[in-house]
Amino acid sequence: MKNVKCARCIICGQEYEAAADITLCSCGGVLDIIYDYEYIAAQVNRATLAANRDFTMWRYRSFLPIRENSPAPPLRVGWSPLYSSARLAEIIGVKYLFIKDDGQNPTSSLKDRASAVAVVKARETGANTVACASTGNAASSLAGNAAAAGLSSVIFVPSRAPAGKLAQLLIFGAKVFSVEGSYEDSFRLSAQAIEKYGWYNRNAAINPYLMEGKKTVSMEIAEQLGWEVPDYVAVSVGDGCTIAGVWKGFKDLRAAGLIYRLPRLISVQARGCCPINRATKTGRPLEPMAENTIADSIAVGRPRNPDKAIKAIKESGGITVEVSDEEILQAMALLGRKCGVFGEPAGVAGTAGLMKAAKEGLIPKDARIVSIVTGNGLKDTASAMKTAGQPMRIEPDISQLEKLLDNM
Ligand SMILES: *Cc1c(COP(=O)(O)O)cnc(C)c1O
Ligand SMILES: [Zn+2]
Repeated sequence: MKNVKCARCIICGQEYEAAADITLCSCGGVLDIIYDYEYIAAQVNRATLAANRDFTMWRYRSFLPIRENSPAPPLRVGWSPLYSSARLAEIIGVKYLFIKDDGQNPTSSLKDRASAVAVVKARETGANTVACASTGNAASSLAGNAAAAGLSSVIFVPSRAPAGKLAQLLIFGAKVFSVEGSYEDSFRLSAQAIEKYGWYNRNAAINPYLMEGKKTVSMEIAEQLGWEVPDYVAVSVGDGCTIAGVWKGFKDLRAAGLIYRLPRLISVQARGCCPINRATKTGRPLEPMAENTIADSIAVGRPRNPDKAIKAIKESGGITVEVSDEEILQAMALLGRKCGVFGEPAGVAGTAGLMKAAKEGLIPKDARIVSIVTGNGLKDTASAMKTAGQPMRIEPDISQLEKLLDNM
């Protein structure tokens, strides 16, 4: 990998060769992939991207930690739409709002960006089985991307995972273990099994390559906005890998000379499970919390990798916001009604947090804001039905229809 210098521990600074199967530093710290930006800048710039017809995350391959000869995996991941939404902006009370609909990835969440990289790295190590513990989307994306690439997958999910996500796993042919317990319990069991059986580990908390895939969402945002960097990017936070990736994407672009400034992050967590925001605000070590929210994909009571996320929020001069389940459901309905975008609860939490921050006057009125919708609502229709309302019951009779329409 000519574009990668090494992997460096974010706690003690120890450097490692960027082998395909590295995990944590010996001190327990998470590793960060360090790039040679001069080399990258010689490979890619705004003009080469403008001429690039590959409308997937792999158009940013020069920024990704994979071998030059590794083939990109088969599924089309990335280049999700960025919608300008004047109507939602008006309701929220901001001037410029863009919705990045990452629920349009092949398995319907932003996690596909990480799983695509995991599949490439697994192949580089020669593994033919990949494994993870997940609240749902990391798992379903791994299962789908692995299936397309001809790898097997083993998945540990907490028993609360919504049916839509379970169905995806099973259809993609994963070996699925539904663990009677929390995400925490699932994580521990997966770690033991991976150790024992030598599978490739797609746990974002310890695999430093996954965040690198997620950073492509920011590269797309910048390019789709004509390289005009937004003032704020709102994103929902569970384990913290996504927001750390969002930050790294912008920083990489700046380091390679494609952009000149950075946005501020809006870190949104559920009120019933917000350990990363709490630690960011108080400056104290992270304390685990209960996992009390309908937004299952961000219900992570004991994040395994909070350091990069907390660092990213602080470095960006970011804002932390907590939202109730009620606020999440309201944002879900609003995104559906004003933008035609259907997100799952965790997927729309970022927008809910943005709405709250705007209402509380935390964001300047003329700011340009991007809200990332991280997962599709069809994964969890039971939650959606809590806010969607009910159909009108009617006999097959036109006069009844007239009456109902008159009363609307
Ligand atoms: C995983 C996930 C998140 C949060 O990402 P983390 O890396 O856990 O912080 C947000 N939304 C959805 C839909 C997810 O699947
Ligand atoms: Zn270390």
